[in-house]
Parts: sequence; structure tokens; C-alpha cells
Amino acid sequence: MIKCVSCGKAFENNEIIYTCDECGSVLEVEIDVDVPKNTFDCRRNTLWKYKEFMPVDEKKIVSLDEGGTPFCKCNKIGEDLGVDLYVKVEGSNPTGSFKDRGMSVGVTKAMELGVDTVGCASTGNTSASLAAYAARAGLRSIVLLPEGKVALGKLAQAMFHGAEVLSVDGNFDEALKTVSQLALEKYLYLLNSINPYRLEGQKSIGFEIVNDLGWESPDRIILPVGNAGNISAIWKGISEFYNAGYIEDKPMMTGIQAVGAAPIVNAFNKKSMKIDPITNPETIATAIRIGDPVSYTKALNAIYDSEGYAETVTDDEILDAQKLLGRKEGIGIEPASAASIAGLKKLRESGVIDKGEKIVCVVTGHLLKDPDTAIKASTPPIKVKSDVSELKKILENNN
Ligand SMILES: *Cc1c(COP(=O)(O)O)cnc(C)c1O
Ligand SMILES: [Zn+2]
Repeated sequence: MIKCVSCGKAFENNEIIYTCDECGSVLEVEIDVDVPKNTFDCRRNTLWKYKEFMPVDEKKIVSLDEGGTPFCKCNKIGEDLGVDLYVKVEGSNPTGSFKDRGMSVGVTKAMELGVDTVGCASTGNTSASLAAYAARAGLRSIVLLPEGKVALGKLAQAMFHGAEVLSVDGNFDEALKTVSQLALEKYLYLLNSINPYRLEGQKSIGFEIVNDLGWESPDRIILPVGNAGNISAIWKGISEFYNAGYIEDKPMMTGIQAVGAAPIVNAFNKKSMKIDPITNPETIATAIRIGDPVSYTKALNAIYDSEGYAETVTDDEILDAQKLLGRKEGIGIEPASAASIAGLKKLRESGVIDKGEKIVCVVTGHLLKDPDTAIKASTPPIKVKSDVSELKKILENNN
């Protein structure tokens, strides 16, 4: 069953619907699972390890072995900040971001419904993922991208996997409104995170975190927030495992936004359940350059219910954190992902995060998604003759 998160109106699982026709709010899939946690032992470590929790037809699964991403303990940064730090590396998914989890379940649902065209608006990663999964499923894919604001790697992926790429003059929020209208008129099946099946896939990040910790909840999960689907999804996953009796505690959900695109943080600071959309969101972290997040109700519920937090970080703090994780721990992430690390640092310094907390930062996308930013942040190669004495001089000087 699908249920409205605000008024509770129920809809059938196979109804193609994206928002509540009664109150306009977002929808959520309700599931009822009763299996013991040893069900998952000895299964391959992909998102489908938890298939009982995925509300789609097992015979229709479209998968690229998404999920089962690295869970790296980061002692150096952790010790510097006085916390027990783990990083969930979502850039290791098939197309390099967590969107693959949602897309596997979403495209599986599309196959179940028998649609022939799927589509989305995207800051980049959703389009890359949709293009790949649509290719695998044999579906036509249409993606709307804000002109000039999509990182190079993501654009390359969407084009290469054969999506019809439409570059629109407008930001993500505007592109999403446009493509939603096309979806309502049945030109395409919409696979943005307003589609509740997307979040069903993404909740597996929550499943994996507690499974990776030996069926224990961390004290806190920190992640970047853009359209606010992922924080909602992870909280749903954690809550489902808690309700199933697999874990005894739940983490404080902590969402980080860029200063120039922070409607959720603004609402949090007013202890409000409503957001004031930002009309011209701006940040170098293009994946979270979103001013009117569709899942704000779910995200604020997650933050309030978990006694979590929401905070902003500047673009400079994001770039510093990106570099820190790359240079100190060897983990390459795109700018938006670094908001989680930047947020951890800021909240530790301000005392919101206690010394010794067990923290999981979700880093959402791969470094190579945005090669331009990576190159700009680095020292250019040194030109030199292939000559031993020349090379020796350089090595000795740079030491
Ligand atoms: C999509 C995305 C986000 C934001 O996730 P939401 O679910 O929109 O809040 C953050 N980082 C990266 C790399 C993304 O692709
Ligand atoms: Zn409703």
C-alpha cells in the first residue's frame, strides 16, 4: 500500500501516482515484513540481499549489483575530531552514486507497471543512473538537465548510456516541475525521488550501515541534503529494521546543506515543518543545488523524530573537506558528498556533536563525477624531461 505522509490517504501499489490527490503531500510505500535477521546471512552483498523489504516483483528485478558499498573506518580524521568515524562510500555504486539503489527498485517498478518510457529532472547523478538502468531494462529514457550546471562526468554518463538529454534553461526545481507535468500527462514514468519506490531502494543504505556495524545503530548519520529524498529514505530503512527488532537504538539523522541552498536548515532553525523555497539556489556542490526540496516533510520528520540536526556549510568548507578525505584517507568524493564531512567538522567544533560519538558520514558520489573541480583543487603536473638527473633535482627540491 502507498500512503500520504501528511493526511494518511491510502493508494494501491500499482496506481501511478506521485503526490496525494487529497492534500498534495508526498507519498510513502508501507510494507509489512516479518522475517528473522539471519535471513540475510550468506547472501551476496547487494541491495537485493534485503529483497523481503523491497516492494516489487522479484521476477522483474533490474539490477547492476548496486549496494554493498565500502564502509571505511577513518581513524585519522576521526582521531583529529575526537569521534569514532566511518564513511559509507556510495561513489562505489555502478554509476558512481547512491542514486543506483533507488533506480534499481524504481526501474524494476517501471517494468512491473509495463511502461515504455522513463524520465527525470536531474542535477546530474539521477540522469546518469536512470540512463544506465533504462538501457539495461530496454526502456526509453528522457532526462532534463539545468543548462551549464551539470558536472562533466554525469553528463557524459547520461549521454553515453543513450538517454535523450534535454538541456533546459532553468534550475533543477524548474526542470522538475516541467517533467512532473509530462509525467501527469503520462508521457513518461517519473523516476525522481518524489516517486516513493526510489526511496525504497535508497533505504538500503540504512540497512547496510547497521548490518556493517554488526546489527548496531551508530550514534549519528550525517549526509548532504538536496531534494531531501535520501535522508528520508535512510531514516525509513533504519526505522524498519528497528521495528523488526533487528536493532535496539536509532541514530540522530543529521542533514547538511550548502549555505546558498539551505531551505531545510532554515526550517530546522525555526523548528518549523514548512520550508520557504529558495528561488535562486547557488553552490559549487551542484548535486545539492536545490531550493525547493520535494521531500522536505519526510526529511524534517526524520530530523525531528530522531533528535537529529541540520546545519549549513560554505563552499570553501565543502572544498576543504573534499580535499581532507582525499588526502588523509584516500577516498575520492564529489563536492556535494563532502558536505557531510564539512558538517561533521563544524558540528564537532560547535559542540553539537559530542566527543566519542560513533558517526557514519554518507559520502554520496564519486570524485570523477566532477573532474573539473578535482583538477582545480590540485597542483598541476610538472613538465620535465625524461632524464634521471633532472628528475632527481625535482625530487630533492620537493622533499
Ligand atoms: C542526489 C545527490 C545528493 C542529494 O540527495 P537528495 O536525496 O536529493 O537529498 C547528494 N549528493 C549527491 C552526490 C547526489 O547525487
Ligand atoms: Zn494527503
